[in-house]
Amino acid sequence: MAKGTSVRDLLRVEPGEPAALEDRNPRATPGVKSRSKAVPQMAEHLRRLEGLQERLYAESTRSVLLVLQGMDTSGKDGTVKHVFSGVNPAGVRMTAFKQPTPEEQRHAFLWRIRRALPHPGEVGLFNRSHYEDVLVVRVHSLVPEPVWQKRYIEINRFEEEVAASGTAILKCFLHMSYDEQRSRLLARLDDPNKHWKFKEGDIGERRLWAQYQAAYSDAVERCSTQPAPWYVVPSDRKWYRNWAIGAMLVETLAEMDPRYPDPGLEIDRLRNRLAPPN
Ligand code: AMP
Ligand code: MG
Repeated sequence: MAKGTSVRDLLRVEPGEPAALEDRNPRATPGVKSRSKAVPQMAEHLRRLEGLQERLYAESTRSVLLVLQGMDTSGKDGTVKHVFSGVNPAGVRMTAFKQPTPEEQRHAFLWRIRRALPHPGEVGLFNRSHYEDVLVVRVHSLVPEPVWQKRYIEINRFEEEVAASGTAILKCFLHMSYDEQRSRLLARLDDPNKHWKFKEGDIGERRLWAQYQAAYSDAVERCSTQPAPWYVVPSDRKWYRNWAIGAMLVETLAEMDPRYPDPGLEIDRLRNRLAPPN
């Protein structure tokens, strides 16, 4: 990768630009040539992430929010497992958004999202998110079109507010090909230890592939903003997906440069107080 280029620069959908998903190759590996180069770099990302997260937690004023979206089997769970393997769970706030519960349904769509935002010092992790309300909801016409249409603007306003309150937002679309999804679904059938992951409903969603791609394309395009851009992560290669998201998290945190607070302890006086009684 050329010096000075960041992975975020390579994968960002520039605000105002088309998402152009069909021009982005899900097998591409922007920024790294091969798996054998990526593996040691990934180990380095994980090492840096651990230290940066600890400083963020200690500083306790700002947060990071990683949003993961993608079709079934695109690797949302795998990303959580690999990229967060080295961080202290005490500083991570993870939420997997499912079909809204009856209680959630009684509120506006952002209600459950606000409640799951990271607190100061935390890294928030959304496995699916408020974007489902313009994805699955749109594809299945779960609300009338005028309702989901105005959500793009509501989302942009919401994210702007979250960013302004000190949360760096990293939104990743795990871009996987139709063929790769088939292989992954078949792999789940082939391995008895993966049967629990197989949902027959996923086949029904797969049949709506084109509608989902159109919905993703609009969401990414309309909601890639300066305070909260979208990144399209080629995800047919799992090692690349992990490498890229690890790198982007490190870049985000390094840029924030969290610091250990200095509470101004009077070291000598405190040492004296700890001296054993004579
Ligand atoms: P999974 O991530 O595979 O555990 O599945 C969670 C399911 O919840 C997916 O089928 C999502 O489409 C669905 N889901 C998440 N958020 C919403 C929402 N706001 N409205 C309807 N379905 C949702
Ligand atoms: Mg699923």
